[in-house]
Amino acid sequence: MKIAFFDAKPYDRESFDRINNGRYDIRYFETRLTAAALPLAEGCDAACAFVNDEIDHAVVEGLVAKGIKVLALRCAGYNNVDFKAAYEAGLTVVRVPAYSPYAVAEHAAALLLALNRHIHKAAARTRDFNFSLVGLTGFDLHGKTAGVVGMGKIGRVFAGICLGFGMRVLAYDAFPKPQEGIEYVPLDRLLAEADVVSLHCPLTPETKHLFNEETFAKMKRGVVLINTSRGGLVDSEALLSALRDGQVGAAGLDVYEEESEWFYEDRSDVTRQNKTLSLLVSMPNVIVTSHQAFLTHEALANIATTTLANLDAFFAGAPLENEICYRCMGTGKPQADCPKRAGGRCH
Ligand code: NAD
Repeated sequence: MKIAFFDAKPYDRESFDRINNGRYDIRYFETRLTAAALPLAEGCDAACAFVNDEIDHAVVEGLVAKGIKVLALRCAGYNNVDFKAAYEAGLTVVRVPAYSPYAVAEHAAALLLALNRHIHKAAARTRDFNFSLVGLTGFDLHGKTAGVVGMGKIGRVFAGICLGFGMRVLAYDAFPKPQEGIEYVPLDRLLAEADVVSLHCPLTPETKHLFNEETFAKMKRGVVLINTSRGGLVDSEALLSALRDGQVGAAGLDVYEEESEWFYEDRSDVTRQNKTLSLLVSMPNVIVTSHQAFLTHEALANIATTTLANLDAFFAGAPLENEICYRCMGTGKPQADCPKRAGGRCH
């Protein structure tokens, strides 16, 4: 079986080659999966894509026309796939629902600590032999309030880290699942009381720009915003102006709403840079990382293991635990009439 593997990076090759061990013929392509890249999938049985590949209607149709039967996403989020088109065209889509919630939650915590204690500024200063402490005052996390938006796998780990710091944790989730030590509250109360807000809900039509001018106005002045989920949750222009006037005190962004054009590549030679992103990266109270929260050895190994196991199950005709079903997506759980419920497949 041949897999057309798009947006391949050296670290992907290392983990997939090690875990694949010759099982599949993996054809690694550095290019993203777009309509223009479809000829690369010629003769392949499966396609493998990542977060910034845009699997729109044309790409779905193109993959199916090339004889591809399954799209294996090697990520958890799936907002970049036209599921209606995939469902109608008969393209099965599988994903890696969890590979290391610790990797992402720990990165969120790293952004928070770095911003609060000005580690990025201090490291740049000491490199120049500037050992002044002026402007580097932070605040104790102990005793402060963290607001976690989206208490799924990652949000819960992040909440646990905050509890470890001695913080009070407020949480908001569309489908709350009680957890000891965490108080679920309506979003407005979380916004009004949290000193730190960390985003861990998926990007859906309902959560697009959930953080906008109005939401920022409801937050505590000087709040620290951490987003390791999806860029589209935050209206970047509104964030920029909230940072400028001090309503938001600092922002740690691992994701950006227009990241697909920039992230994962060296774009330092591009003269016409994205204006909002240029302004954000230039602010001393903002840290932008390039969607790297997942990037640990453990997560890469788990991603490769689950992706290949998903393909094994697909080609063996076995039930597909990690299939994403268009009919069930809206509810987040299989519908009563979904065959997956009975251990089968959605398609
Ligand atoms: P998950 O499915 O386990 O949890 C998501 C939670 O969000 C669930 O509890 C769900 O009930 C809640 N939710 C859904 N809609 C909501 C809404 N409208 N308002 C509030 N809460 C809502 O997912 P996860 O594994 O914890 O991942 C969370 C997100 O993190 C993913 O959607 C993905 O976009 C992102 N992610 C980022 C990286 C990275 O490298 N930066 C890596 C993995 C995942």
